[in-house]
Amino acid sequence: MPYSSSMIDLHSHSSRSDGALPPAQLLAHAAAVGLRALALTDHDTTAGLEEAADAARRHRLQFVPGIEFSAAWRSQSVHVLGLWIDPDAPALRAGVATQLDRRHRRIRAICAHLTREGLPGDRLLSMVEARTPLPTRAHLADALVEAGCVRDARDAFRVHLGRGRAAAVAADWPALAEIVGWIVAAGGVASLAHPTRYSLSATARNRLLTDFVAAGGRALEIGCGGNALHHLDACAALALRHGLEATVGSDFHGARMPWNPLGRLAKLPDGLVPAWRSRGIGGDEDG
Ligand code: AMP
Ligand code: MN
Ligand code: MN
Ligand code: MN
Repeated sequence: MPYSSSMIDLHSHSSRSDGALPPAQLLAHAAAVGLRALALTDHDTTAGLEEAADAARRHRLQFVPGIEFSAAWRSQSVHVLGLWIDPDAPALRAGVATQLDRRHRRIRAICAHLTREGLPGDRLLSMVEARTPLPTRAHLADALVEAGCVRDARDAFRVHLGRGRAAAVAADWPALAEIVGWIVAAGGVASLAHPTRYSLSATARNRLLTDFVAAGGRALEIGCGGNALHHLDACAALALRHGLEATVGSDFHGARMPWNPLGRLAKLPDGLVPAWRSRGIGGDEDG
């Protein structure tokens, strides 16, 4: 797979959501691997942005304030990156507060299911809540491993937490259009994350993109992390068809997902417009 040496990574996670590194360490790591620009896009929170921006200044790295929102499109959960957001914009702040609330309710519901499965749901819930103010299924997977309920995090998803499993809880994320609205109100660029990771037919995927554009979506993430080359072409075709700009990112989480190292980025296929061009970053996305 052709990798870009542009060193602009617009999708990463810190320990403020389910990443391994605290924001300042994430930026130090970004500098060490030679990145020029990094976006911190934690799941449904902006809590790490200030610390990350400070560290970016110390490391002379261009920093893009971001977020990765969980949204609903029809019955599908989708992820929308908000890039160049103002975290203090009232609509965004209100949105983030409701997401946090949803996440706490959801993790409690999942743990109740685990209890019904005969697992120590209450203890698992306490473990998660002691560890993070922003509970994700990734934290719960870690707790299941630590409590000796499963061998590893992958097993936790495969056996308990994944789609269709006994403890799977249909998320009640806000509609895609509403989430895009928060991002736009915060002056950000909405980019649909890893568009080939959703289990949708080609027709449904195109409808999703049509709705995304109608809601104010501006960009599409092209080749995320471990995505194979054919995904790159599929993403590029979708972006061109729907008139979307391109973003690239690794979806770095740290050791949890060693297949997504920081700065491993797809080389943009010809004809795509990088969303960062007009934002004063780079100038030569391939060089
Ligand atoms: P949530 O946003 O609460 O649904 O949590 C999902 C998070 O769990 C994702 O962002 C991934 O970081 C992680 N995750 C999802 N599926 C798996 C899997 N099969 N194995 C390990 N981690 C996963
Ligand atoms: Mn994650
Ligand atoms: Mn995602
Ligand atoms: Mn991500």
